[in-house]
Amino acid sequence: MKNSLENDVFTYNFNCKPEYGLAYAYTYFNSHLIFLCPAYHPQGIFSGSENKVGTIVHEIAHARVSKHDIIYGRWGCKNLAKDEPYKALNNADNYAYFVETLYPFNSGVDAATTTPDGFTYLFKGNFFVRFKGSVTSFSPRWPVLFKERFGNLPAKFGQGLDSFLCLKTFGYSYATKGSEYIRFKSTNSPALSNGYPASLQAGWGVSSEFSLGFDSSVQLSNGLTYVTKKDLFIKYSDNSASSVNSGYPKKLDSGEWGDLPENFKSGFDAMTVFQNKKLHVFKGSEYIRYSNFPTIDLGYPSPIKGNWGDIPQD
Ligand SMILES: [Zn+2]
Repeated sequence: MKNSLENDVFTYNFNCKPEYGLAYAYTYFNSHLIFLCPAYHPQGIFSGSENKVGTIVHEIAHARVSKHDIIYGRWGCKNLAKDEPYKALNNADNYAYFVETLYPFNSGVDAATTTPDGFTYLFKGNFFVRFKGSVTSFSPRWPVLFKERFGNLPAKFGQGLDSFLCLKTFGYSYATKGSEYIRFKSTNSPALSNGYPASLQAGWGVSSEFSLGFDSSVQLSNGLTYVTKKDLFIKYSDNSASSVNSGYPKKLDSGEWGDLPENFKSGFDAMTVFQNKKLHVFKGSEYIRYSNFPTIDLGYPSPIKGNWGDIPQD
């Protein structure tokens, strides 16, 4: 199943046969073709029972690993898993619910930012979550695809971002992907400024490693802006982050980031200064927090799971 999810290529046909009209989707054993029916389309992507991701997983379980329909529905599947686990292993819906209830950000984030209007965003692949106030209380419709907020981003940006930066003091937000970046019309705006994508090299005064792409970026409350790439970081003191401070890049483990956990020394995935002014740095399935930079708060690293939202359970 894992191999199929990672490597198989599928064709989706919206021409659902009328006799399957009440199903969400259907397929056949040993097939790469999945039919999607009208009931599929209004479902959430990751949220709610019978969401789109779960339905696709259900069909792949039939199409590629010949799993059966022994029982449908959450409670039925849960009881089957408890009472007759060997049967649950053979039931397509058990795979669907297993995946449906995974929160995609628990395994890591690509980029993160907090905008002056108080929203924090986590980005992963071509979707994101946004929350204000308590991290765990966002509406069941999240996560959503980029296009729901940002429209059609330039091709490779629409597939996922490397980093997102809100320069509060300068008034713009930026997203980077590979050697290029885009600028939004204002810190809170989803609309792009004209003339982008542009090259990192031109806009950010970077060379070598950093001109090929950023891993993570953030502007601290003191106005200093940091960008990381692998085990290196650069720092900007100017408002517009266009001229790298002299003496940089430096190694992440040079002391300016405090006593970093071993796995953070090789690079960061994402950073954001949350509404409480605390810096949060993500790496893999964990994050660290600084209340008083560069001293890492006690008790970190902490798992993302359970601290940055979850799929609403129903
Ligand atoms: Zn089925």
